[in-house]
Amino acid sequence: MKFHPQKTAFDVDGVVADTMSLFLKIAARDFGINSISYSDITEYYLEDCLDIDPDVVEVVINRIIENNSGIELLPIEGAVDALCRIGSRTPLLFVTARPRLDPIKRWISKTLSGVPSRIDVIATGSFEAKVDVLKAYGVTSFVEDRLETCFHLNENNITPILFSHPWNRKPHPFQSVRNWAEIEELLLVE
Ligand SMILES: [Mg+2]
Repeated sequence: MKFHPQKTAFDVDGVVADTMSLFLKIAARDFGINSISYSDITEYYLEDCLDIDPDVVEVVINRIIENNSGIELLPIEGAVDALCRIGSRTPLLFVTARPRLDPIKRWISKTLSGVPSRIDVIATGSFEAKVDVLKAYGVTSFVEDRLETCFHLNENNITPILFSHPWNRKPHPFQSVRNWAEIEELLLVE
């Protein structure tokens, strides 16, 4: 199955941004939590799988959302080069469930400064609200790392492409990818 680049949009955290790695770095530096590794994150909601104070999780997530931790948020391996190639042919749309747009929009603008096309970034504030935004943009497929959101998209006739991570390794019927090379292979070349 192939997907049209013009009708495909992307989640940000866990797809373009290596947000979980930033979480682990902030938790280690600010709270001395050194016992958690990436593969321990087997649930999207970290307090469901980690022995960690929910208040600490909230503080760390707020530092991520405001992008004021002083530790750089890095892109997922291969994302920038792939998006530069995809973005040379078509405008790019990113839809995040984050509650705050500005910090992540600035990060995307800086990270993807080599993309010649128009880039739109929308922050919905909720996972469920992604559907309406995607439909308004005529999007029919979406790269996402939260499995529950993939089911919701699918119920609303948007084909999810699951970006595989330790926190979404549960049974599902969706197309999945392990890296950006696999995303590019799925997108039809014009
Ligand atoms: Mg995500």
